[in-house]
Amino acid sequence: MERKIIQVNDRLRLKKPHPCGSREWKVLRLGSDIKMECLGCGRTVTIPRSKIEKRIKEILPKE
Ligand SMILES: [Zn+2]
Repeated sequence: MERKIIQVNDRLRLKKPHPCGSREWKVLRLGSDIKMECLGCGRTVTIPRSKIEKRIKEILPKE
């Protein structure tokens, strides 16, 4: 299985949209859990890395 490499400040597009309608998140902190901010509504969540890796559709290029 392809291993995704996630870095701080990466923008991620997930398979399922957040309730606000946005699919894009910015990575704030990495560890065994990943803290990310929704780019639609600004909410932050902390989710185990293994869960996020399954939910990522793509990692967007850096600006
Ligand atoms: Zn949101």
